[in-house]
Amino acid sequence: MASYSKQALADAIYSKLRLNCGRELCEANASHMFRACALVLRDILAERNLDTQNWVRETMSRQVHYMSMEFLLGRSLMKNAFNLGILDALTEALSDMGFHPSDIFETEPDAGLGNGGLGRLAACYMDSMATLGIPATGYSICYELGAFRQKIVNGEQTELPDDWLNLGEAWLIPKPDETEEVRFGGTVDQRWEDGRLRVFHTGYVSVLAVPRDMAVSGYGTRQVNTLRLWDAKAPVSIDMSLFSKGEYLKASEQNAMAAVIAKVLYPADHHPEGKALRLKQQYFFVSATAQSILRRHYNEFGTLRDFHLRHVIQINDTHPALAIPELMRIFMDDYGFGWDEAWRIVSNTVAYTNHTVLPEALEHWSQDLMEPLLPRIWNILCEINNRYGAQVSAFYPGDGDKLRDTAIVWNREVRMANLCVAACFSVNGVSAMHSDILRNQLFRDAAAMAPDKFKNVTNGIDHRRWLAQVNPGMDALVRELTGNDGYLLEPQRLRELERFSSDGAVLERLEKIKAQNKESFARYARREWGFALNTGAIFDVQAKRLHEYKRQLLNAMHILHLYLTLKDNPNMDFHPRVFLFGAKAAPAYQTAKEIIRLISSLSAQIAADPVCKDRLQVFFLPNYRVSLAEALIPASEISEQISAAGKEASGTGNMKFMMNGAVTIGTLDGANVEMHQLLGDENMFLFGLTAKEAEALRAAGYNPREYYDRNPALRRVLEEMAKGFGDGVSYAHLTERLLTGAHCLPDEFFLLPDFEPYRRAQERAGEVYRDRDAWNRMSLLNIARSGGFAADRSIGDYAREIWSVPYRKFPDPNHSR
Ligand SMILES: *Cc1c(COP(=O)(O)O)cnc(C)c1O
Repeated sequence: MASYSKQALADAIYSKLRLNCGRELCEANASHMFRACALVLRDILAERNLDTQNWVRETMSRQVHYMSMEFLLGRSLMKNAFNLGILDALTEALSDMGFHPSDIFETEPDAGLGNGGLGRLAACYMDSMATLGIPATGYSICYELGAFRQKIVNGEQTELPDDWLNLGEAWLIPKPDETEEVRFGGTVDQRWEDGRLRVFHTGYVSVLAVPRDMAVSGYGTRQVNTLRLWDAKAPVSIDMSLFSKGEYLKASEQNAMAAVIAKVLYPADHHPEGKALRLKQQYFFVSATAQSILRRHYNEFGTLRDFHLRHVIQINDTHPALAIPELMRIFMDDYGFGWDEAWRIVSNTVAYTNHTVLPEALEHWSQDLMEPLLPRIWNILCEINNRYGAQVSAFYPGDGDKLRDTAIVWNREVRMANLCVAACFSVNGVSAMHSDILRNQLFRDAAAMAPDKFKNVTNGIDHRRWLAQVNPGMDALVRELTGNDGYLLEPQRLRELERFSSDGAVLERLEKIKAQNKESFARYARREWGFALNTGAIFDVQAKRLHEYKRQLLNAMHILHLYLTLKDNPNMDFHPRVFLFGAKAAPAYQTAKEIIRLISSLSAQIAADPVCKDRLQVFFLPNYRVSLAEALIPASEISEQISAAGKEASGTGNMKFMMNGAVTIGTLDGANVEMHQLLGDENMFLFGLTAKEAEALRAAGYNPREYYDRNPALRRVLEEMAKGFGDGVSYAHLTERLLTGAHCLPDEFFLLPDFEPYRRAQERAGEVYRDRDAWNRMSLLNIARSGGFAADRSIGDYAREIWSVPYRKFPDPNHSR
C-alpha cells in the first residue's frame, strides 16, 4: 500500500491537525492527535465504502442487515489501521511526530454502545462480514451515553456517565439527507378508498431519525461496510408550524421525546426493562431502519416484490423484533400490498437469534404501553397473533395449553420471542447445547410445527482483534510456528500448533510470553489503580457482567475458603494466586451489587492479613469494558467459566481466554460443552452438575440445607460471610438467599451442590500448574484448538445455513494438506 507510507500518513495527520483541529503540531495533545488520526483513516474508509456500495449495486448481491440494540465496539483506531495494513506505518509516523503511539491509541474512548456479550458479538460479526466479503449493514442507536463508567467507592459500585461521543464522533459521518420520520401515538382509522382498505394515522408525535454512519473495515480486503447509528432529532420545521398553529404542547412533546430517545443505553444485561422509554427506543430504531432499507431498495428497483431475494435481516435477540410488524405496516400502508403477499416477503426476510433461556430475560410488553404508543403496530400484532393461533389450533386441535404457550398476545401482553418464532424464517441458538434447549424445551411446540426453521450457530470472536492485535507476543509465535500470517484469514490453521505440543523449547517460549503479558498487565494495574499484583502468582480471572447465574459468588466463596484454610494452616503448600474480577452490575440489581461489595471486602481483608502476603490476592478491577478485556485476557492463566449449567447460552469470554492460552475451569454450559469436546477432560478443568442433573435435583425438591449440613468447609464459609469481615459489613442477606431464599427460590443457581466439586477442580488446577511443562502444553492445545471459535466460522455458518449469501471460503487445513 504505497500510498500510505509513514510519510504520507504523517502529512495527512499534520494537515487534519491544522484544518480540523485548528492546532499546530507543537500545540497538539494526545486527544488532538487521536482525532487527526481517526479523520485520516475515516477518509480512506469513506472512499472504499463508496466503492463497496457501487460494487453491491452492480453485482446485485443479496445483502445482510444486522439489527442490534447494542454494538460494543471498543476502540477503532488500532483496529482500522490493522485491517488496512497500515498499523506499522501509523505507529512510526506518530513516533516521528514526537508522540508515544500507545498514548494516542489509549486516548481513544471505548465506544461502549452495549452491555456485554450480545453487543460484543455484534461488533465481532461486523468485522467478519466485511472480511468475508459479505455486503452487510449494521443498525443501532447512536446513544449519547454508552454503558456507564463504573467507579468503586468504599467497595461499592457507583455509576458515572460515559461521554464517548466527544472524541468518538471523529469516526461518524452524518447523513441528514437520509433522515427518516418515526411516528408515535395518535389514532388510526381504516377507510375503504379506491377499492382498498386504507389506513390513516393522525394526531401522532414525530421524531426524526438521522443516520450517523460508521465505516466498518475488514482484514485484507478493500471492502468497507457500514454501521448505521440513528440519532434522534425533533422535527424543527414542523415544530415551528405547530407553534404558529398554537399547538405548543405537541411541539414541546416532540422536542422532549427526541431529546431522550437516543440519550442513554439501558444498562441491564439479561434483564429487559419494561419501561416506556425502552419501547420507544426499540420502535424508533426499528422503524427508521425498516423504512431506510425499503426506501433504498424501492429507489433502485421501483418495486418491492422481490425484496426478500435481495435482503436478509438478522435480528440480534428480540430487541429489534418490532421490525416484523413495522415491515408489514410499510408494505401494506405505504406501498399498498395485501396481507398475504406482505407476509410472504417479510417472513422470508427476517431471521432471529435467541440469546437466553432465562425466563425473566424474555421480553414482553404490556398492551397498556404498546397500544397507545404504537396503535397501528398493535393492530398488526393482533392480526399476526390471530393467524398464527389458527395455525397452532390446526396443528394441535383442541389443545388449549399449546395455544396459550405459543401465543404472541396473551393476557394483555406481547411476547416478543413467540413473535419471532412465529414470523421469522430462521430461529437460531448460539451454541449446540443452547440450540437444543430451544428446539426441545423453550420453543418445543413451535419447533414441532416447523422443525427446519431451527438452527444452531455457535458464537465466535474476532480472532484478529482478540489474538493478533491484543497479544503481539503470541501472534509472533503463531506466525513463526505456522510459517506465515495465514491464520489471520484461516483461523483453523491454529491447529498447526499441535505439532509443537511436546516441543520443550516452544512450550518455554509460550510460558515466557505469558509471563511478559502478566508483567505488562501488572504495570497497567499499577498505573490505572495503584494495585501491586504478584506476577509470580497464578492469574485466575473471572471477567464478565455480574449476574447470579454466572456465579461470581461461587468464586468468592471458594476464595474465602482458601483464605480460611490458609489461616488455619499458614504453611499450607499451594501455588500463590491472584484472583481478578471484572464486572459491571446493572444499577438496579441489588444482589449483584452486594456481590461486588463482598469481593471488595474480601479483597481488603486478604490484603490486610500478613498470612496472605505473597500468596493470596484478590482485586476487583473497576469498569470492565472492551479495552480492559484487551489488556487483561492475554495475561490470564485460569479462565473462570462457572455459570449454572443450562443458563449461559454460549459465552464468548470463554473463547477469548482459550484463544490466549488460559486454561478453563468451567461447567458443562453454553459453548464450554463444545470446548470440552475439542479439549477433552485432560485440557480443561470441568466440574459441577450438568443441566440435566440440575433439573433433576430441582424436580426432586432441592434443599440447600443438606449440603450445608454435610460439608463443614462450606458451612464455615457461609457463616463467615454472614458475620462479615474487617470492614464490618455483613453479607447475611447473601447467605440467606442461598439457604432459605429471601423472596426467591433458595440457591436458584446451585452454588451449594457445586461448591465441593468446584473446590476440587481448583485444587487440581493448582497442582497441574506446578508441572510447568504439563500446564504449558494444555495452554498450547487450548490455543491450537480455538480456531473454530473464530467469528469467521460463525459468519460462514450464517452465510451458508441461513442467509444464502456467498462468502469467501477458507481452505480447511485438514483437507488441503
Ligand atoms: C467478551 C465480553 C463480554 C462477554 O463475556 P461472557 O464471559 O461471554 O459473558 C462481556 N464484556 C466484554 C467487555 C467483553 O469483551
